[in-house]
Amino acid sequence: SDSALPESAPALVVPRHGGSDVLEVRDEPTPEPGEGQVLVRVAAAGVNFIDVYQREGVYPIDTPFVAGNEGAGEVVAVGDGVSDVVVGDRVAWGQGLGSARAYAAVDTTNVVHVPAGIELETAAAAMLQGLTAHYLATSTYAVQQGTVALVHAAAGGVGQLLTQMVKLLGGRVIATAGSEEKLATARERGADETINYAEVDDLAAAVCDVTDGRGVDVVYDGVGKDTFEASLGSLRPRGLLVVYGAASGQVPPFDLQELNKGGSLYVTRPTLGAYVATPEELRARASELFGWIESGDVEVTIGGRYPLTDARTAYDDLEGRRTQGKLLLVP
Ligand code: NDP
Repeated sequence: SDSALPESAPALVVPRHGGSDVLEVRDEPTPEPGEGQVLVRVAAAGVNFIDVYQREGVYPIDTPFVAGNEGAGEVVAVGDGVSDVVVGDRVAWGQGLGSARAYAAVDTTNVVHVPAGIELETAAAAMLQGLTAHYLATSTYAVQQGTVALVHAAAGGVGQLLTQMVKLLGGRVIATAGSEEKLATARERGADETINYAEVDDLAAAVCDVTDGRGVDVVYDGVGKDTFEASLGSLRPRGLLVVYGAASGQVPPFDLQELNKGGSLYVTRPTLGAYVATPEELRARASELFGWIESGDVEVTIGGRYPLTDARTAYDDLEGRRTQGKLLLVP
């Protein structure tokens, strides 16, 4: 391994479950890459809601742990049994717990190579939310010419990417967001219709109006608790509700008969891991995603860059609905 590596370097630590106030930046020993792992000098780490769920203990992880799941950087050492990645490679990942630190050890099964035409920052910003938008638009519901999709929180990280992908695949997007400024962003990303869900009394009725009473084919809902009911009410018969997140809180248990009343509706609660289940699937999705970014079909908006030492502010901004696009931590 590289003798120039520091013995320890800054890391964002969750010492116990709780709010953003528990977060601590402290020097941690530089990890040794284990079997099948690479050690990466992290150029940027992504800020995501899953970090919040893990920090709060909603997704159980024993404390203390290093926060963050996403990043990009240059490989500085490789562990045993690694043959497809070498020192000097530019790599990115969206599923590697312990990414918010200067040097991170990542399983090569989670790593993709970053094409020369894409900056490391862009790659770090695109992995988790971009792969999510990709599987939502191509697999969970395969958007086609004429598909009508309702995209909630369309100015958010996933929302902006998903809006662009639905449009790219030939669909029509009805976008929601919580402010006029965010609705303008959604329109810039291609949304055909926009609804400020903070202002309408009956969201499902508003969606019905803009679809001439038909309802939408698919709802992409990362908001969860606050939008769930309106999302179901916005579907056409046999339409699909995709609850892919819970920014406003988890959806409480519900009565299956609601699906019958809506006209044979479907609901799914997908997770990225199941859609990048093998390295082959991960690489295929990442390759199409990077292709769309390189061609300019999909634009990755970086809504904020924070030094690792300001990570608390980054999470407060995300959880406080003050952000648009992707937030990055720079170690
Ligand atoms: P966003 O950038 O979309 O930020 C969340 C947005 O949700 C806010 O900006 C806000 O937009 C909206 N929102 C509505 N109600 C609330 C609330 N009570 N508190 C906070 N935000 C609220 O975040 P991400 O793009 O990172 O993630 C979006 C969702 O996608 C999350 O739920 C996340 O867990 C999920 N996700 C799921 C994955 C999966 O595979 N299942 C993978 C990746 C992300 P506005 O002000 O317009 O209402």
